[in-house]
Amino acid sequence: MITRFAPSPTGLLHLGHAYSALTAYRMAKDAGGRFLLRIEDIDRGRCRPEYEKAIYEDLAWLGIEWEEPVRRQSDHFGDYDAALARLREAGLVYRCFKTRKDIAAEIASAPHLTPQGPEGPAYIGAPLAALEERSLMAEGAPFAWRLSIEACKDYLGAAFDRLSFAETGAGPNGETGTIRAEPGLFGDVVVGRKDFGTSYHLSAVHDDALQGVTHVVRGQDLYHAAHLHVLLQAVLDLPRPLYHHHCLITDERGERLSKRDRAVSLRALREGGATREDILARLAL
Ligand code: GLU
Repeated sequence: MITRFAPSPTGLLHLGHAYSALTAYRMAKDAGGRFLLRIEDIDRGRCRPEYEKAIYEDLAWLGIEWEEPVRRQSDHFGDYDAALARLREAGLVYRCFKTRKDIAAEIASAPHLTPQGPEGPAYIGAPLAALEERSLMAEGAPFAWRLSIEACKDYLGAAFDRLSFAETGAGPNGETGTIRAEPGLFGDVVVGRKDFGTSYHLSAVHDDALQGVTHVVRGQDLYHAAHLHVLLQAVLDLPRPLYHHHCLITDERGERLSKRDRAVSLRALREGGATREDILARLAL
C-alpha cells in the first residue's frame, strides 16, 4: 500500500489537514506500506515558501514520517507539459481563449444549455475555427486547455460508460463501494490553466501514477474530482488507484475549517500550548 498526503502551501495547515495526513499515514503504516508527502505548489502566485516550511514542521510535530526526497510539483512542470501534449495529440483538449467573465455571460444568456454540476455549471465549450484561433495566437492572446468530454467519449467508446472507481471511504452522500464514474458532470474542465499550463487535476493524476500511489486518501471535498480523475487515467493510460475519501473536520458551529481561518491552524494550536496528544484526542484518533 502506498498512500500520500498532498497539501498545497497556500496557508497554514489546520486540524482538517492533520486528520487527512494522519489517516493516510496510519493506513499505510498499519498495512506495512509506504507513506509519501507531495507538495502541490503549481500555483506559484498563491504558494509561499514559508507555508511549505510550516508543512514540514507541523507534520513532524504530529509524529508523521515521510520518504525523502519529497516531490515538489513546481520542480516538474515539464512532466505535466508532456501529459498535456499526449492529450493534445489524441485530440482530447482544445484551446479556450474565454475569460471567466465571457463564460459567465454565455451561461447566463442560455442557462438551459449548461447543466449544474456538483461544483458549479458544467460548461461545455468548443474549439474555435482554425483561422480565428490562429489570429488570436498571433496576437499572443492567453488561452487555457479544456478537456473535451465529447472527444473523450469518442476516444474511449463503450469503455467511457464503464468507467468506475473503488471507494473504500465514503463520498459526501455516503457513496461507497464500486462507483460508476460520471466525468460528464463537470463539463469540459480546464486541464491546462492560462497562467501555469497545468492544473490540479492533471498534475495530481500524473503524480499519483508516477509515484505508484495505491490508495488516494483525502477529504470528501475532493470526492467529485475522482469522477474526473478516472477519466484522465483512462485516456492517459495510467493505473487507477483506490479512493478513500474521509469526512471533514468541522468547527463548533459545524462549519468546514478553512486555511483562511488562522485560529485553528496547527501552528496556532501548538503555540497556544496544545500537545500532539490533544490534537489526536480532538480528532478522535
Ligand atoms: N493539493 C490538494 C489540496 O491541498 C489535495 C489534492 C489531493 O489530495 O488530491 O487540497
